[in-house]
Amino acid sequence: IIYADYSASTPPHPEVIRTMTEVMERIYANPSSIHELGGQADQLVLRARSVVAQALHVQPQEVIFTSGATESNNMAIFGVVREAMRLAAAGNPVHAIVSAVEHPSVYACYEQLKLEGVEVSIAPVDNNGRVDLKQLEQLIKPHTVILSVMHVNNETGAVQPLREIGQLVARYPKLVFHVDGVQGLGKLPVELADWNAHLYSLSGHKIHGPKGMGILVKRGNLKLTPLIHGGVQEFGLRAGTSNVPGILAMSKAVRMAVEAQAKDEEKLLLLNERMLKHIHEIPELVLNSPICPLGAPHILNASFPGMKAEVAVHAMEEQGVILSTQSACSSKLHKPSRVLLAQTHNERVAASGLRISMDASMTIEQIDRIGSALKETVERLKPLVQRER
Ligand code: PMP
Repeated sequence: IIYADYSASTPPHPEVIRTMTEVMERIYANPSSIHELGGQADQLVLRARSVVAQALHVQPQEVIFTSGATESNNMAIFGVVREAMRLAAAGNPVHAIVSAVEHPSVYACYEQLKLEGVEVSIAPVDNNGRVDLKQLEQLIKPHTVILSVMHVNNETGAVQPLREIGQLVARYPKLVFHVDGVQGLGKLPVELADWNAHLYSLSGHKIHGPKGMGILVKRGNLKLTPLIHGGVQEFGLRAGTSNVPGILAMSKAVRMAVEAQAKDEEKLLLLNERMLKHIHEIPELVLNSPICPLGAPHILNASFPGMKAEVAVHAMEEQGVILSTQSACSSKLHKPSRVLLAQTHNERVAASGLRISMDASMTIEQIDRIGSALKETVERLKPLVQRER
């Protein structure tokens, strides 16, 4: 079997597994306890926070451990908007902007805010799936409190123009810039200061770390209204006993991802080029991913118009290749991809996107096998293609 669904999840690194089990066995005290054993656990958490801070060039007190990027995104978006609503004079509107191609864990927060009466605008993307700066600028209002734009799109690999967006954001001192960085860490350089990003979300299981672990980086003295109330863990932003094994394993995964980034990017570029060659050899396929550097090297998305993506994914699986349709979080909905629709405005293309997501550990031979399986699948399924109506 060839696994090419690394954007859905990655196998944990052996060092991550070792850290998890060692800490679970040895460090069981509660880091909030005032006795010696609690103090030891607390020291380890402090150390993990510093490791992450160093890797991301931020301060330890800017690193908040969460249960995953979904929680980080919710904490960021609801945290900013609720804080702004608390401070706004009664009846004053609050406005928020989200890009059209965000992951469901961001996009659904804005849909919920809309139901709660918040004014929400959607920033459109160009045909590369990248936010259109001119149109974005026109959406910003004096009472816009937050803008969410991801680093790398999880379906297409499109890399957003974060530096340019950051420069725009800098002109609006009250506007908070939130970046979902899940698919970018370890693949591309991360420059939070350069992007002028105030909030940055990460997930453990996309970087060979643990599932159920995430990070929210909150830069400077930005105030958030917490989502989870109780104890004072994580600077009062996330009550609940700290997941000490998860936190330590997560910090390892972040450090290793950042250390390996340049080397992995180089390798992924080779795999990307090779995979692209195979896709280009199949005339039935339409490429949805922008070419590097407008796209990240590890994700390639191509549509087989007229063929339901699920059918093609299962046909590939029969040939021993594991791919995916859209994001794992939406794939069971069996609807055309919102991301591809926003980029292509074409239902047939949006309903037939296949995502190949690669890891630096893969070989050229594996990419060639994916290429042949893809060719064979397209040949086999061609007679079943729905004609355009
Ligand atoms: N954002 C993006 C871009 C993602 O790809 C994912 C994972 N599918 C998430 C957020 C959610 O991360 P987690 O699984 O840690 O909640």
